[in-house]
Amino acid sequence: MDYQTILATICAEVQPLLSQGKVATYIPQLAKVSPRHFGMAVYCLDGQTFSVGDADQKFSLQSVTKLFALALAFSREGDTIWSRVGREPSGSPFNSLVQLEYERGKPRNPFINAGALVITDILSSRFVQSDIAILQFVRMIADQPNIDFDATVAQSERETAHRNYAIAHLMKDFGNLHNPVKTVIDSYCRQCSITMSCAELAKAGSFLAQHGTVPWSGAQILGASSSKRLNALMLTCGTYDAAGDFAYRVGLPAKSGVGGGILALVPGELAVAVWSPGLDATGNSLAGTYALERFTTLTARSIF
Ligand code: GLN
Repeated sequence: MDYQTILATICAEVQPLLSQGKVATYIPQLAKVSPRHFGMAVYCLDGQTFSVGDADQKFSLQSVTKLFALALAFSREGDTIWSRVGREPSGSPFNSLVQLEYERGKPRNPFINAGALVITDILSSRFVQSDIAILQFVRMIADQPNIDFDATVAQSERETAHRNYAIAHLMKDFGNLHNPVKTVIDSYCRQCSITMSCAELAKAGSFLAQHGTVPWSGAQILGASSSKRLNALMLTCGTYDAAGDFAYRVGLPAKSGVGGGILALVPGELAVAVWSPGLDATGNSLAGTYALERFTTLTARSIF
């Protein structure tokens, strides 16, 4: 498959879309990024890599880190995590409080903010510093020791984290947060601020395309069954309340973030990461979603 030509085609096709998305502004530091960026990278399980555009430029991972936090928690705690967080699509925005009240503080899934805060809480009970544990995990699976937090983004998010505080306090009231709210929010804001490039992100996600095993090192992060389950959650919940439309258009397990990044997997073949900071109304990268839609069309590589 001539992935390089396909990426170049997609990069040309998305140019008119780069002015249509809106960068996230509720975290002031993210509002400073130009919506005109576009990068895309493919990491094949045989080690071949392909990239186009701004694929080597670092961006704020934001909710994409929810995937890595979950993988770490699932690898350590196994199925016990499901007593604290569900596995159903939310059908609500990623930062919604609505369902939490009548579902007695148990978030719908680990990929909305409420669920990620519970996962952060689980990791905070296990590690002295859960944000560092997540960072080290990401460095290891990306094979890139210089991946780091962006302290300015983390601070910007902490200062405006009113909704996340509200979610955390509500869950605390229901007994589904075991550590202090501030500890969990601080760790969560730091994990969201991790910056990576598309090329690094595709490599970091590749273990989930290879049944839980890191392709280049052979290290087993998750068993094949657990990896399959995370892929299922990505498909059903990884792009918030747009997951149905995303599955319809793209047809791959994926996780997005409001920094404009999306990581998607073709199980058994490759991981593909795309970044374009302009978002659609659901908080997913507008050009990034279109790029992945074109990718699965041009390569005939959806899971369906
Ligand atoms: N840090 C962001 C928040 O908590 C992450 C949201 C996202 O990427 N969807 O609001």
